[in-house]
Amino acid sequence: MPQDPSCIFCKIVVHELPADIVLEDERVVAFRDVNPVAPLHVLVVPREHIETIAHTEDEALAGHIALIAARIAKREGYAESGFRVVTNVGANAGQSVRHLHVHVLAGRPMSWPPG
Ligand code: AMP
Repeated sequence: MPQDPSCIFCKIVVHELPADIVLEDERVVAFRDVNPVAPLHVLVVPREHIETIAHTEDEALAGHIALIAARIAKREGYAESGFRVVTNVGANAGQSVRHLHVHVLAGRPMSWPPG
Protein backbone atom coordinates (compact mmCIF):
# COMPACT_ATOMS: atom_id res chain seq x y z
CA MET A 1 0.00 0.00 0.00
CA PRO A 2 1.69 3.28 -1.07
CA GLN A 3 2.62 5.38 1.97
CA ASP A 4 4.16 8.81 2.40
CA PRO A 5 6.77 8.65 5.18
CA SER A 6 6.24 12.31 6.04
CA CYS A 7 2.44 11.99 6.40
CA ILE A 8 1.02 11.82 9.94
CA PHE A 9 -2.10 9.93 8.85
CA CYS A 10 0.07 7.33 7.07
CA LYS A 11 1.88 6.89 10.39
CA ILE A 12 -1.42 6.40 12.22
CA VAL A 13 -2.55 3.86 9.60
CA VAL A 14 0.51 1.68 10.29
CA HIS A 15 0.30 2.29 14.09
CA GLU A 16 3.58 4.18 14.12
CA LEU A 17 1.80 7.18 15.70
CA PRO A 18 -0.77 6.62 18.47
CA ALA A 19 -4.42 7.40 17.83
CA ASP A 20 -7.77 6.55 19.38
CA ILE A 21 -8.83 4.14 16.64
CA VAL A 22 -12.54 3.32 16.50
CA LEU A 23 -12.63 1.11 13.40
CA GLU A 24 -10.20 -0.57 11.03
CA ASP A 25 -10.66 -2.73 7.97
CA GLU A 26 -8.62 -3.64 4.92
CA ARG A 27 -9.24 -0.29 3.21
CA VAL A 28 -9.70 2.36 5.92
CA VAL A 29 -8.81 3.40 9.45
CA ALA A 30 -11.08 5.62 11.57
CA PHE A 31 -9.84 7.46 14.66
CA ARG A 32 -10.94 10.27 16.95
CA ASP A 33 -9.77 13.74 16.00
CA VAL A 34 -7.07 14.99 18.38
CA ASN A 35 -8.74 18.42 18.45
CA PRO A 36 -12.48 17.62 18.45
CA VAL A 37 -14.93 20.33 17.45
CA ALA A 38 -18.04 18.30 18.35
CA PRO A 39 -18.86 15.58 20.91
CA LEU A 40 -18.31 13.06 18.11
CA HIS A 41 -15.42 13.93 15.82
CA VAL A 42 -13.92 10.99 13.99
CA LEU A 43 -11.73 10.97 10.89
CA VAL A 44 -12.04 8.18 8.32
CA VAL A 45 -8.93 7.80 6.16
CA PRO A 46 -7.91 5.36 3.45
CA ARG A 47 -4.92 3.15 4.22
CA GLU A 48 -3.45 4.27 0.90
CA HIS A 49 -1.89 7.74 0.78
CA ILE A 50 -4.29 9.76 -1.41
CA GLU A 51 -4.03 13.53 -1.06
CA THR A 52 -7.69 14.47 -1.41
CA ILE A 53 -10.98 13.14 -2.78
CA ALA A 54 -10.02 14.97 -5.98
CA HIS A 55 -6.95 12.73 -6.34
CA THR A 56 -8.75 9.42 -6.81
CA GLU A 57 -11.16 7.78 -9.24
CA ASP A 58 -11.67 4.79 -6.95
CA GLU A 59 -15.46 4.84 -6.60
CA ALA A 60 -15.54 1.74 -4.43
CA LEU A 61 -13.11 3.28 -1.97
CA ALA A 62 -14.90 6.64 -1.94
CA GLY A 63 -18.24 4.93 -1.35
CA HIS A 64 -16.76 2.74 1.34
CA ILE A 65 -15.37 5.75 3.19
CA ALA A 66 -18.78 7.47 3.09
CA LEU A 67 -20.61 4.38 4.32
CA ILE A 68 -18.09 3.74 7.09
CA ALA A 69 -18.56 7.36 8.21
CA ALA A 70 -22.33 6.86 8.44
CA ARG A 71 -21.89 3.51 10.18
CA ILE A 72 -19.71 5.11 12.87
CA ALA A 73 -22.21 7.93 13.48
CA LYS A 74 -25.04 5.40 13.78
CA ARG A 75 -23.01 3.10 16.02
CA GLU A 76 -22.19 6.01 18.35
CA GLY A 77 -25.90 6.80 18.68
CA TYR A 78 -26.39 9.76 16.35
CA ALA A 79 -28.74 8.24 13.76
CA GLU A 80 -31.75 10.18 15.05
CA SER A 81 -30.21 13.49 16.11
CA GLY A 82 -28.16 13.72 12.93
CA PHE A 83 -24.55 14.08 11.92
CA ARG A 84 -22.34 15.67 9.31
CA VAL A 85 -19.83 14.00 6.99
CA VAL A 86 -17.45 16.42 5.32
CA THR A 87 -14.12 16.38 3.53
CA ASN A 88 -11.99 19.48 3.03
CA VAL A 89 -10.07 19.81 -0.24
CA GLY A 90 -7.32 22.38 -0.55
CA ALA A 91 -6.53 25.71 1.02
CA ASN A 92 -9.88 27.50 0.68
CA ALA A 93 -11.67 24.59 2.31
CA GLY A 94 -9.18 24.59 5.18
CA GLN A 95 -7.48 21.28 4.52
CA SER A 96 -4.49 21.00 6.85
CA VAL A 97 -3.49 17.34 6.40
CA ARG A 98 -2.79 16.24 2.84
CA HIS A 99 -4.14 12.72 3.25
CA LEU A 100 -7.77 12.20 2.27
CA HIS A 101 -10.02 12.14 5.33
CA VAL A 102 -13.68 12.63 6.03
CA HIS A 103 -14.76 14.24 9.27
CA VAL A 104 -17.71 12.61 11.05
CA LEU A 105 -19.24 15.24 13.32
CA ALA A 106 -22.20 14.90 15.66
CA GLY A 107 -23.59 15.74 19.07
CA ARG A 108 -24.44 19.43 18.68
CA PRO A 109 -26.43 21.59 16.27
CA MET A 110 -24.32 22.71 13.31
CA SER A 111 -24.90 25.79 11.20
CA TRP A 112 -25.13 25.95 7.43
CA PRO A 113 -23.48 27.30 5.35
CA PRO A 114 -20.12 26.52 6.93
CA GLY A 115 -17.88 29.47 7.80
P1 AMP B 1 -8.46 19.18 7.86
O1 AMP B 1 -8.25 20.55 8.44
O2 AMP B 1 -9.74 18.98 7.17
O3 AMP B 1 -7.26 18.77 7.01
O4 AMP B 1 -8.50 18.19 9.09
C1 AMP B 1 -7.38 17.67 9.71
C2 AMP B 1 -7.79 17.20 11.06
O5 AMP B 1 -6.80 16.31 11.55
C3 AMP B 1 -7.94 18.31 12.11
O6 AMP B 1 -9.28 18.32 12.60
C4 AMP B 1 -6.92 17.94 13.18
O7 AMP B 1 -7.38 18.22 14.47
C5 AMP B 1 -6.74 16.45 12.93
N1 AMP B 1 -5.48 15.88 13.36
C6 AMP B 1 -4.24 16.35 13.09
N2 AMP B 1 -3.31 15.54 13.62
C7 AMP B 1 -3.97 14.52 14.22
C8 AMP B 1 -3.58 13.36 14.96
N3 AMP B 1 -2.28 13.08 15.16
N4 AMP B 1 -4.53 12.54 15.44
C9 AMP B 1 -5.84 12.83 15.25
N5 AMP B 1 -6.29 13.90 14.55
C10 AMP B 1 -5.36 14.74 14.06
